[in-house]
Amino acid sequence: MGKVRRLLWGLLAVAVVAAGTAFLHKPVTTAPQPAPATPTPIPGPLTGVTVCVDPGHGGYDGGAYGASGRAEKEINLAVARQLADALEERGARVILTRDTDTALADEGPERKRRDLQARVDAAAEADIFLSIHMNEYRTAAESGPQVFYRQGQADSRLLAGFLQQSMNAALSPARPRSAHTGEYYLLEHLQIPAVLVECGFLSNPAEEQKLLDADYQRRVAESIAEGVAEFAGMKSE
Ligand SMILES: [Zn+2]
Repeated sequence: MGKVRRLLWGLLAVAVVAAGTAFLHKPVTTAPQPAPATPTPIPGPLTGVTVCVDPGHGGYDGGAYGASGRAEKEINLAVARQLADALEERGARVILTRDTDTALADEGPERKRRDLQARVDAAAEADIFLSIHMNEYRTAAESGPQVFYRQGQADSRLLAGFLQQSMNAALSPARPRSAHTGEYYLLEHLQIPAVLVECGFLSNPAEEQKLLDADYQRRVAESIAEGVAEFAGMKSE
């Protein structure tokens, strides 16, 4: 739950108590207004947009490991949670494919494929899909974020371009990368604008340290949310 949403719940609780108190001390002339069942959606550039945020890997599948020994799955989840907050603060409804350290498929044949399919299925009601990952390479020098999309999907390419531009501007990588096509099960099986975001390289010790830092994770999340808002704004014009 986002900070703003928590604040709105708090204000709602105060309002309900105040209304109740006023009601008790007044003669009954009109029926009290019923409290809304859900918090008022926060108006913003992503109002009416549902975003599925997918923290890559989880459970038995740790993903990549950096020099510190921390698993990619952990950092993916930390960034994804911050991203969910950043998107909600811009008015979006957010679906997280996982909010704990778990895989999305039981043991058995084709476990990885079933895990990925569960992530695709979680996006059934979403308008946009973002899979969050950390990169690795065989040499330590590679650094910086890179966004991948499926070849032939014009909207995914557009979304990837906005995200890449926003992340490059906010994170100032040594060698800014461009969004690129990639062949991933997730992207092949989604029809909505969908991208896989590699936030940085765990194989680069300096970048790994940044990616483990909550403030840097917040900057990564904010830059992704900003790119999503720009994409949505352009599509609604
Ligand atoms: Zn990964």
